[in-house]
Amino acid sequence: MACNPDDVEHQPTSYACAVESPTLHESLRKYWSGVRDLTPLGLFVTSPLERTASMTRHAFLFDPESRSLAKQAFDDAALADGEVRIRVTFCTICGSDLHTYTGRRSAPPQCVLGHEIVGLVDGWGGTDIPTDVFEQPLSIGQRVTWAMAVGCGSCFYCTRGLSQKCESLFKYGHESIRQHPTGGLAESCVLIPGTPVIPIPDSIPDAVACPANCATATVAAALRLTRQTHAIEHASAMIVGAGMLGITAAAQLAEAGARSIIVVDRDAKRLQLVQRFGATTILSPDDCDIPQQIKQLTEGRGVDIAFDFAGFLPAVECCLESIRIGGLALLAGSTFPSDPLQLSPETILRRMLTIRGLHNYITEDLVEAVRFLEAAQIKYPFAELVSQPYPLDQAEQAFEFALAERPIRAAIQLGDGSQLDLATE
Ligand SMILES: [Zn+2]
Ligand SMILES: [Zn+2]
Repeated sequence: MACNPDDVEHQPTSYACAVESPTLHESLRKYWSGVRDLTPLGLFVTSPLERTASMTRHAFLFDPESRSLAKQAFDDAALADGEVRIRVTFCTICGSDLHTYTGRRSAPPQCVLGHEIVGLVDGWGGTDIPTDVFEQPLSIGQRVTWAMAVGCGSCFYCTRGLSQKCESLFKYGHESIRQHPTGGLAESCVLIPGTPVIPIPDSIPDAVACPANCATATVAAALRLTRQTHAIEHASAMIVGAGMLGITAAAQLAEAGARSIIVVDRDAKRLQLVQRFGATTILSPDDCDIPQQIKQLTEGRGVDIAFDFAGFLPAVECCLESIRIGGLALLAGSTFPSDPLQLSPETILRRMLTIRGLHNYITEDLVEAVRFLEAAQIKYPFAELVSQPYPLDQAEQAFEFALAERPIRAAIQLGDGSQLDLATE
């Protein structure tokens, strides 16, 4: 379907049409078939538009066996048709990076971690100028982020609005280094053809923009799914887990007009923090019985909507026990194995519960995420969620700091940080 960029700019909900164009699907399909035939040496043609012919850069490769990061130099390989090289300027360390680093989540060998990335367009392969999600041409030096996961656009799931479950999904920050690094712990990251790229408005600092393509977009997806069955405006909502997802959800719910936003976490500091992001009530399971307390706060009924971003079984159970008859429990935190949930079908039936799972997001959620950050960063102190960044050379220290100190986000900064505008505490 053709999409007029002028129309798109005025209709945020239709942004997704840009990534559903048959042209893009066709180029991506060709790329995938090319990748299957690619030898380790590759035989792609060097583009006249590729700015830097061959430059030595550095990446940190994660070894899942020893759980260590090792710096490696590599020369820029020629870019294939449709590939875009990004000079990485900032990368925040997401919870899933930490799960991989600690061995809780598996990773391929020689993996370049980091998927919450902002960078500058540095070149592309082929003669066609690549475009962003609004079908506007990219330019050298333009500051962008992109979808963390890229679907093929034509498989069973991609054609049913579930491109994050594509049968041949590609995920940044989760792949072995091949011709190019495709993660954030590297001086350059090469985007595969068909990657939904979105420009970052100048008003958003790198540190604020970085989580857009993971946490912020996932929360946007959570609200999109919620709206399919439940109104958010005037709703009572509960959020379990006051990490980046939960804090972002509080702000997005507040902006969407939720009447009450109750946030549950054990960490007193995080609970204090989330009050500056729209939370109306904070609760710790160490201080009270959460479902009981929720009932007291909601005239004995329970909340309309509960979001789990913590993922642990008791957190999920807490959500299910705290929603009212006809309520929605949206589960987005359990990205790791746990014991099975004990829930009788009769309970689901008699209480008319809606239980939804969410994993990652689709392109329109990323567009909404960037729009949200641009508008809301003035009202909510998003810059304070990211700690003082480490240089790339200290990537391992950044991970150790993230594990020891549990900041909302640890960060890696590359280059001179001229885009950085971290708030001072
Ligand atoms: Zn992530
Ligand atoms: Zn697909």
